[in-house]
Amino acid sequence: MGICSLESVCTTRLPKAGETIIGHKFFIGFGGKGANQCVQAARLGAKTSMICKVGKDSFGNEYTENFKRNEISTGKAFLNIISPIIFKETIIGIRNVIVIVPGANLLVDSEDLKRAADVICKAKVIVCQLEITPATSLEALKMAHASGVKTLFNPAPAQADLHPQFYTLSDIFCCNETEAEILTGLPVGNPEDAGKVGSILLERGCKLVIVTLGAEGCVMISKEDPVPKHVPAGKVKAMDTTGAGDSFVGALAFYLAYYPNLSMEEMIRKSNFIASVSVQTPGTQSSYPYRKDLPQDLF
Ligand code: ATP
Repeated sequence: MGICSLESVCTTRLPKAGETIIGHKFFIGFGGKGANQCVQAARLGAKTSMICKVGKDSFGNEYTENFKRNEISTGKAFLNIISPIIFKETIIGIRNVIVIVPGANLLVDSEDLKRAADVICKAKVIVCQLEITPATSLEALKMAHASGVKTLFNPAPAQADLHPQFYTLSDIFCCNETEAEILTGLPVGNPEDAGKVGSILLERGCKLVIVTLGAEGCVMISKEDPVPKHVPAGKVKAMDTTGAGDSFVGALAFYLAYYPNLSMEEMIRKSNFIASVSVQTPGTQSSYPYRKDLPQDLF
């Protein structure tokens, strides 16, 4: 679940209340956290499905076509599908400010999950975010967890009062600096801070926490190895970092599903690389690389 059209305007500054300013660029793209993550995983070669709802309007139709173009399963009840990797959620974005209008996403409910149960429970990996109702996300995680499906949870947009079961039901809890700060109340500006918030999240019941740090890459920490490990990203010339986090999560889901024997550090290193490719091109989904264009030693 989790799709949307991204209507973006570039301006030199944000308008004040009541002010009209001139922008110099306007574009519409496809977004939604779950959809972005799904598109990235699919472009790496994953067999993916989305559990989501789209409106019966031109945006919904265009989005369905976008999924088809990216070889992502779509089906009955608008989109209500799944297979090896499942993604759930959405977005609307401007460069530094993002406004989410959940729309159809908030209509995804228990009944939809029940209809999709067979697919959820047979998946290799489920990826959930918070752009549908948290109760529905939590239920999906419970269903997957009970069937031994690997759970990757991305607590975005972050909520300070996250239900405690989100921590215990996540095999991998992956957040960015802002989300980590909202969840713990501690500022995160460097790998050392990320290690500290990672420890706090472990205490709340997570098995493995990844905190993404933009150009700094990520910090991982796990119950098995509670010493924070910084996995740096390569140095690149970043042009547009919008959606880098979703590229990272999509890539990680791909590795979890298809290369389960890789070490987590190696999966993160490869996912860092893929996300760092995405920041070198403008746009969100439009910047996500395809497998054929990546160095083959990533696979
Ligand atoms: P967004 O909300 O825009 O999707 P995010 O804040 O969730 O992004 P970040 O932590 O900014 O996610 O970035 C995710 C990953 O993308 C990083 O861990 C890193 O691998 C890669 N990345 C982001 N920015 C850069 C950069 N400037 N150079 C290299 N890699 C980057």
